Formats: sequence, C-alpha cells, structure tokens
Amino acid sequence: MYNDVLKRDLFTSDHNMFRDQVRRFIETEIEPYHEAWDENGVVSREVWDKAGQSGLLCPTVPEEYGGPGADYLYSAVVVEELGRAGASGPGFAVHSEMAAPYIMNFGSEEQKQEWLPKLVSAEAITGIAMTEPGAGSDLRKMSTSAKKTNRGYVINGQKVFISNGQLGEVFVVAAKTKKGNSTDSMSLFIIEADREGFAKGKNLKKMGVPAQDTSELFFDDVEIPHENMLGEEEGQGFYQLMQGLARERLTIAVACLAKAEGVFQNTIEYASEREMFNKKLVDFQNTQFKMAEVRTDLIVGRSLVDRLLADYLNGELNADAAAAAKLWVTEMQGRTVDTCLQMFGGWGYMWEYPVARAYAEARIERIAGGSSEIMKSIICKSMFKEMGIKADFS
Ligand SMILES: Cc1cc2nc3c(=O)[nH]c(=O)nc-3n(C[C@H](O)[C@H](O)[C@H](O)COP(=O)(O)OP(=O)(O)OC[C@H]3O[C@@H](n4cnc5c(N)ncnc54)[C@H](O)[C@@H]3O)c2cc1C
Repeated sequence: MYNDVLKRDLFTSDHNMFRDQVRRFIETEIEPYHEAWDENGVVSREVWDKAGQSGLLCPTVPEEYGGPGADYLYSAVVVEELGRAGASGPGFAVHSEMAAPYIMNFGSEEQKQEWLPKLVSAEAITGIAMTEPGAGSDLRKMSTSAKKTNRGYVINGQKVFISNGQLGEVFVVAAKTKKGNSTDSMSLFIIEADREGFAKGKNLKKMGVPAQDTSELFFDDVEIPHENMLGEEEGQGFYQLMQGLARERLTIAVACLAKAEGVFQNTIEYASEREMFNKKLVDFQNTQFKMAEVRTDLIVGRSLVDRLLADYLNGELNADAAAAAKLWVTEMQGRTVDTCLQMFGGWGYMWEYPVARAYAEARIERIAGGSSEIMKSIICKSMFKEMGIKADFS
C-alpha cells in the first residue's frame, strides 16, 4: 500500500471505506483480465456493468437521477486507485468525470432524467467528442456542423482520438451551429451511437494504454431532435467546455499524481530486491538521491492536488489553477516514470513490467485534455489579464 507522507485530512472514514471497496474491485475484476484486454485493445463490457453495480461510476450524480449523490472525493478515490494500480484500460474517468458532468451541469430536466441513471448503471457508456483531424488544440477551427431543421439538427463531420469510442453508446459531441470561429459558433449535443448515419472508425493503435478504446467517429447526415442540444440556446458550447475542462484537468492531475505514486512504489520494491556489485540497488547513493527527488516531487504534487480538491469541494476551483496543476503534475509524472524506468535497467523496457506500461501511458498526459503548451497559454493569458498587460495570444 502507498505510504502517504502528508495527512489527507479531506478524506473521512467513509471515503476510506469506499477506497478499500474500490481496491478490492480492482484486484478481483480488473487486474486478472488486464493483460487480455491489452491484447484485445478494449476492456470487456462486463467490467463496465460490474463497475456500475458496485457504485464506481458517476459518484457525484445526485440521488434523484439514480446516482449516489456523493462528493467529488469519491470520484477522486476511483481515479486514484485505478491510477496507482496502473489499470489504464477502463475509461471510467472519461465517462464519469469528463463526459457525464456536461449532462449533469448543462442538461435539461428531461435529459438528466433520461441519461444520468443509465450512465450510473453503465446501461450506457459515454465519451466526449471534441477533437477533429484538423482541430485539436485550436477547437474553434472544428468543422463538424449542426444544421438546424424543422425537426431538429443534422450533424455532419468527423471526430478523432475519442476515448471510449468503440464501447460508447452515447457521446457528448461539439459541433458548429454557426459558421465562423467566434466563441458563440459552437454547441454541445447528446448523440446516441445507434442513430442512422453515425459510424465508428477503427480502434486506433496507440503507443500506450492499449486496452483503452480510442476511435474515430463519423457523422453523415445524422438527424437528432432539438431536445438533444445541451443548454437553453445555441452557441454556448465554448463556455460549457471551458467550465467542464477545469474539472477534467483537476481529474487528470488527481489521476497522474496517483499514477506517479504507484510507479514509484513499484520501483522502491524492485530496488530493494535487485542486487549488483554485492549491494542492493537501494544501497547506492545515486538511487537514494534520485528517490528523494521523486519523493519531494510527489509531496509537492500532493500538497497542490489536495488543495485544489478542497477548492473544488467548496465551489472555488480556479480554472487557471486547474490548468497549472494539469501542467505541473503531468510534467512531474513524465520525470518520475523516466527516473523509475532507469532504475529497472533493461527490464524496465520490457512491456511485461508495469514501469514500461506506465512510461508509455505517461506520455499522453502532456498532450490530451489540453497540451502543456495550451496550459501555459491559459495560465499566462489570465496572469496578464489580471495585471493589465496586453499581449497577442491568438
Ligand atoms: C489517447 C488519446 C485520447 C484522447 N481522448 C480524447 C477524447 O476523449 N475526446 C477528445 O475530444 N479528444 C481526445 N484526445 C485528443 C487530445 O485532446 C488532442 O490530441 C490534444 O488536444 C492536442 O490536439 P492535436 O492532437 O490536434 O494536436 P495540435 O493541436 O495539432 O498540436 C500540435 C502541437 O502544437 C502545440 N501547440 C498548439 N497550440 C499551441 C500554441 N498556441 N502555442 C504553442 N504550441 C502550440 C501543441 O501543444 C502540440 O505540441 C485524445 C488524444 C489521445 C492521443
């Protein structure tokens, strides 16, 4: 078990009991199957159903919509335990913390009644579809269109790199309701995957997280009713995404810190056993100093992440601080996995070793959910705005 160096006062005994339950779930329902999922390129549908039955999905969905109505720390527990265990396959965080909140926060009463219970129970798996082949960091350039008709909207376009893209049954999709790149040109829609004209592309082969299904999605004259739009009027998509992305970035920071902690724990255990030159690897001063550096990074990360968790619980999460946490923690995770892999020598390069998988997994964290460069842009833009400094951020 990971030895927390800082007391985590935010978490009560109820959170800790839930943590034990999540750990047992990972041990029995995830770890024995993960290797096979890695080979298949996707986890089983069954693990989603079991996660739904065990209360691991959408912990913050209120009781009136079929959820447990728990606080975000329960979400953090699920994300942390999956991260520490290196269970990279199940896309629970994308479903519960990145896609479902758009329906929770911006959905109409009917949309919430219809979808949230299904997301809690895993009757429907969801994902968030923003990125396109020609528009990733620069989302305003997206070209997927939602054309208004008498009956609703007709969606045309393409998305790429969509997590839960193969297993997903319903997606929150960003599309242009107005031509041009203005901030009011885009809206979010709930789109069911069984609609005519909706097609999934192939399961994309990636350098890491092989069991997580990542897909292209195609929309060819997909008709949806007006009621599938999120928000009361068109053009609110950017605003909704900016709000949602703060929680998404906090979740990434929570997950990546736990992933770094998990790989470090695994490395300490290995270095305590591995012998060379009549010593254990942990006996070399270089190992001790490197480990002290990693430990220090993890303490700094823990102080930052737990502080932002408290802010989020109080409704005070600052979007810049969430961007800074995403930037710092994912960069730190990159340093940590590199240091840890070095300690494993050639064994660390073997896929069967968790550190190799953690190394490959860590690389995406500085790109997805907004790249490090975009985080820096957000942080600087807001700092300059506060200070009244004019600069070009276009
Ligand atoms: C495994 C995986 C899962 C993903 N899951 C999802 C998902 O579920 N849903 C979804 O919508 N998307 C998802 N994505 C997409 C991800 O969010 C994008 O890849 C990311 O936003 C970057 O966009 P891009 O790939 O188009 O790169 P680009 O935007 O083309 O960026 C290329 C490079 O340019 C840099 N750059 C961009 N703007 C600036 C700037 N202003 N200044 C300096 N440098 C800049 C970037 O930082 C990057 O280094 C996923 C991606 C992967 C690989």
